[in-house]
Amino acid sequence: MNISSPIKLAVIGRGLIGSAAARHLSKMGHEVALIGPDEPADFSQHSGVFGSHYDEGRITRVYDPQPFWRQMNRAAISRYSEIAAEGGVEFYREAGALHIGDRETTDVASVGQACADEGIACEAYQDGALAQRFPFLKSTVGMLGYFEPRNAGYISPRRLVRAQTIAAERTGARVINEPALGISENGSGVTIRTRSGSVEAERVLVAAGGHTQSLLGRSLGFTVYARTVALFRLGAAEVQRLAGMPSMRCLGPKGDNPYILPPIPYPDGQSWLKLGGDPVDRRLDSEADIKNWFRSGGSVDVADRLQGQILDRIRDLKFEERRVMPCMTTFGDTGLPSIGPLSKRVTVAFGCYGKSAKCSDELGRLGGMALLGEVRAELAPLTGAQDPGAISAIAP
Ligand SMILES: Cc1cc2nc3c(=O)[nH]c(=O)nc-3n(C[C@H](O)[C@H](O)[C@H](O)COP(=O)(O)OP(=O)(O)OC[C@H]3O[C@@H](n4cnc5c(N)ncnc54)[C@H](O)[C@@H]3O)c2cc1C
Repeated sequence: MNISSPIKLAVIGRGLIGSAAARHLSKMGHEVALIGPDEPADFSQHSGVFGSHYDEGRITRVYDPQPFWRQMNRAAISRYSEIAAEGGVEFYREAGALHIGDRETTDVASVGQACADEGIACEAYQDGALAQRFPFLKSTVGMLGYFEPRNAGYISPRRLVRAQTIAAERTGARVINEPALGISENGSGVTIRTRSGSVEAERVLVAAGGHTQSLLGRSLGFTVYARTVALFRLGAAEVQRLAGMPSMRCLGPKGDNPYILPPIPYPDGQSWLKLGGDPVDRRLDSEADIKNWFRSGGSVDVADRLQGQILDRIRDLKFEERRVMPCMTTFGDTGLPSIGPLSKRVTVAFGCYGKSAKCSDELGRLGGMALLGEVRAELAPLTGAQDPGAISAIAP
């Protein structure tokens, strides 16, 4: 394949934000190329880039401690059915989301306050009422829970990327199943190099998740962190017993504040219950660090801790197998994603804080709008320079 015809807009990164941006831009009538590889078949043997969406479960909910993210969540969730219809792929289950914590030692009460202030549907339960409503919980004494029954539950990030990609293709976007190897900006456009040829675009949106800064060859003030998740395979009886389980956000001190997904069917035909919540933040400072981390398969120590936490929280849980998976997140200092221009022709959209799957459609839309020149000032990237000049970088 030789990609030679000029393309007006290109999006680098076929993950959650990039695929969303491509759908929005393509739907607006722009000519779009969406560039990015599939999920690696075997992490341990893979030498290319990785993503943070290789899973079937991401918690979705409107509530977030920060107003910006609540706004993003609302906007994106309101379009879930539109995306599913346009892509022909279902990805969302409204199982509800439970925020739960010790009444005295956590700020769980602030969840109820924010929901009340903002009109987010939310039910409050404590002690015996909590146990009655969610009988699978092991201990509810002294605990307070706020349950979002609507516009909450979980999405499959893999299926969401598929839905967004198909929807973008249906309105004319061209998908290039390759990593970008380099970007070179000049007076008339941008050349994106891939193994099978070059893509010429007038403007480019880079939404390459944890690889964004290394692809651009510059820091935008974000740190990439390793994350480990533990998955527990359940038998049919356990799946049935936990059928009413919502997604859960357990409040507590760092390292004892897991998030938990209910049993979800995975591509192997089995149901797996997943949880995460690393006790320490391990930095991935280079491209080699990221790749080595994914190839390593994640931390067994973290998975052991997570196993203790799930057994502490779900009454009499019986699982048949445990799996450990690596992932990565990006955090900046502002608490906000970085969405805006880096130069005349190159715009960026990334910075996930471990919570951008649910609202990726809105972040992708904002990325697309920024590419077209409409930028939200508070999200503009911190380039450290008045005029960062043309972007020219080779993927390490
Ligand atoms: C363990 C874990 C649990 C999480 N749980 C939740 C949750 O419960 N709820 C929630 O809302 N969010 C959650 N998140 C966050 C969510 O998964 C991320 O916010 C989201 O994946 C970020 O989207 P993104 O598009 O920025 O990055 P990604 O989804 O990682 O996509 C980036 C894409 O860029 C591609 N790419 C990289 N380099 C190149 C290149 N050179 N050329 C072309 N393509 C490239 C990659 O292949 C990848 O497909 C979680 C994240 C982790 C790690």
